[in-house]
Amino acid sequence: MIWIPFFFVVCSAVVVVAACFSVIPVLLKVDNLSHWFHLALVVLVSGCPCVLILSTPVATFCALTKAATSGFLIKTGDCLETLAKIRIAAFDKTGTITKAEFTVSDFKSLSPNINLKNLLYWVSSIESKSSHPMAAALIDYARSVSVEPTPDMVENFQNFPGEGVYGRIDGQDIYIGNKRIAHRAGCLTVPGIEANMKRGKTIGYIYIGEELTGSFSLLDGCRHGAAQALQELKSLNIKTAMLTGDNQDAAKSIQEQLGDALDIVHAELLPQDKARIIDEFKSQGPTMMVGDGLNDAPALAKADIGISMGISGSALATETGDIILMSNDINKIPKGMRLRGEVIGK
Ligand code: ADP
Ligand code: MG
Repeated sequence: MIWIPFFFVVCSAVVVVAACFSVIPVLLKVDNLSHWFHLALVVLVSGCPCVLILSTPVATFCALTKAATSGFLIKTGDCLETLAKIRIAAFDKTGTITKAEFTVSDFKSLSPNINLKNLLYWVSSIESKSSHPMAAALIDYARSVSVEPTPDMVENFQNFPGEGVYGRIDGQDIYIGNKRIAHRAGCLTVPGIEANMKRGKTIGYIYIGEELTGSFSLLDGCRHGAAQALQELKSLNIKTAMLTGDNQDAAKSIQEQLGDALDIVHAELLPQDKARIIDEFKSQGPTMMVGDGLNDAPALAKADIGISMGISGSALATETGDIILMSNDINKIPKGMRLRGEVIGK
């Protein structure tokens, strides 16, 4: 027990020195008082014999606060530790790497019996029930040609994450989505309409019952600074991947826009496919997933760290993620990953 008086003396000395650092500048009326108060705190924390116990929670708290003020909400201190160890970063495409501000470039009726405006009325009314960014674009497109959707007329609306939507309107069973929606409509083969559409677009299929009755294509663009954020992750020795439910062509077009920032691309994925790939990545090293949609929730939950897009993302993604990005700026991710090292000073 001989060390108790020794600790007492050291503690007192540290407190006295820290007090000097804060009081003397006040007495001398120096200009930059906050600098001296900061120095006093540094002396107090680092000179304290309990430093080993105190320094980690103090550093963690500082990092969490700093991250939160810049819109990077980390739910627990453990996430900060894991974040520093991440070796693979997987990103969803629509709404995460891209802006999800679609413009409809093409909307067609493929049946001579179905009037284009009528089809657009049904599609926009059903899409009014969906929170997917494609839905907003289709509704805007309908309004731009004086077609007003009436969501109240839609019955039995269903959302199929990563595939599309279904609704019954005016006695018609209508399925809208990607290739996979054909199976929901009871159609086993998908007619190859992509060849007629311009490359790199998201393509939508409209089925009335089992019949392919219409198609549309939409264009989206990368978020500002997306390539830079991915390159920064690569400079931290982290592998980058994009996992999307969209078609191969649209995925390839985004990959081309990003230069060599993406190491791996997987397209036409269902929510469970994204989760399976995250599992495979985890066998290679600590993995994080960044996503916004309902179809990202299983992958966000499976990853060592799940980051959800707080503003544009779905409530489920936000609930599932360990970190919420309170802005749509994915550049905050590499900055957030550096935080722990910066605050601890290594
Ligand atoms: P990502 O994985 O790139 O974020 P999404 O979550 O946007 O992909 O969904 C994958 C695909 O599912 C879309 O590209 C689209 O074809 C289809 N889809 C999803 N929701 C809808 C919807 N409301 N209307 C039409 N298609 C949809
Ligand atoms: Mg998405």
